[in-house]
Amino acid sequence: MQNCDLDTLCVQGGYTPGNGEPRQIPIVQSTTFKYETGEDMGKLFDLEASGYFYTRLQNPTNDAVAAKIAALEGGTAAMLTSSGQAANFFALFNLAGCGDHIVASSSIYGGTFNLISVTMARMGIEVTFVSPDCTDAELDAAFRENTKCVFGETIANPALTVLDIEQFARAAHAHGVPLIVDNTFATPVNCRPFEWGADIVTHSTTKYMDGHGAAVGGAIVDSGRFDWMAHAEKFPGLCTPDESYHGITYAEKFGQAGAFITKCTAQLMRDFGSIQSPQHAFYLNLGLESLHVRMARHCENGQAVAEFLQSHPKVKHVSYCGLPGDPYHARAQKYLPHGSCGVVSFELRGGREAASRFLNSLRLAAIETHVADARTCCLNPASTTHRQMTDAQLAAAGVPAGLVRVSCGLESAADLIADLSQALEKV
Ligand SMILES: *Cc1c(COP(=O)(O)O)cnc(C)c1O
Repeated sequence: MQNCDLDTLCVQGGYTPGNGEPRQIPIVQSTTFKYETGEDMGKLFDLEASGYFYTRLQNPTNDAVAAKIAALEGGTAAMLTSSGQAANFFALFNLAGCGDHIVASSSIYGGTFNLISVTMARMGIEVTFVSPDCTDAELDAAFRENTKCVFGETIANPALTVLDIEQFARAAHAHGVPLIVDNTFATPVNCRPFEWGADIVTHSTTKYMDGHGAAVGGAIVDSGRFDWMAHAEKFPGLCTPDESYHGITYAEKFGQAGAFITKCTAQLMRDFGSIQSPQHAFYLNLGLESLHVRMARHCENGQAVAEFLQSHPKVKHVSYCGLPGDPYHARAQKYLPHGSCGVVSFELRGGREAASRFLNSLRLAAIETHVADARTCCLNPASTTHRQMTDAQLAAAGVPAGLVRVSCGLESAADLIADLSQALEKV
């Protein structure tokens, strides 16, 4: 299956049943696993043998779905987490600890921005944010002796900026650290960050991978290409003995292909316990089976809606990298040649009141904080997620009061445009 096309991997990757075994991935709804002797199980605790003993660390259902995601991204190993937040926290904390430093794009998901700038700061991890449009010199100047990784999003939620993955990877590697890319919005169907030099990829599988608004989840994938031992002084957690596992050294015992995910599972999942439930992994896999079919339609609808909005007199501005006039159009043509995602943001003339009237008049599109669902949904940050801010504060934050984010689902484009059009009439 390794050499199959991405479409085939979406459908069949990760799990190949043997003779007489279930066609669909079995949900192993068991917290624990039985062994004949204490010695058999002891070997698992020492990481001397691989196998299952407790679902907080590993479960066969999760492993099959993680293997599919690893194959889709072209990575060597992957793990599932309980949420996208847990995936990003684990990926960063697997490399950076107290006294360390991270370089991150400033254009990232609000939850991740808060995780890095507030919560990880309380753990003694510092950050320097850089614009996704920074020059090489500006990016270079953000690094310090204690920098452990670089972080960005392929397509940022909600700003819809597109990361120059090659530029960020080049800078990270010049400073001997890996690039972590959150690929949630693009999904491996539209962009595979490892092909452009990224070392670790994360996902909120809650979004397009699930795609049906059914299960919160996350994933971390390792490209297996970062040479930890060549930068051993920067990564003692991977390159020196772990006393909590009888002194094994992850980078030696599991090599480049397995060290990152093994450490992340054996230490962080053991201690923080943010495992995805096998039931959720099963739902996630149902979503993955049609990801390649759904993404094309999300993008088609996103493009049609963006073009409609751009030509509407009540709309002041549209952000969508599929539009030729968008500042990220050229970068999208390089990194996202088959489409970006179904999320479009636009600013209504008439500010907060116009946005509110527009949203309240929608019939098909629902008001939700969610994105990347099969059903179209909309949000006006000024009256919901950012409602404590004044119009002036909103403008300064790049979230004007009349801004609406629409996540185009899988309905017919004609029906969606008709709904948006009748709601615009009411404004
Ligand atoms: C939603 C989202 C997250 C957080 O994921 P949860 O599954 O909600 O915890 C992280 N990154 C991006 C880009 C997201 O869109």
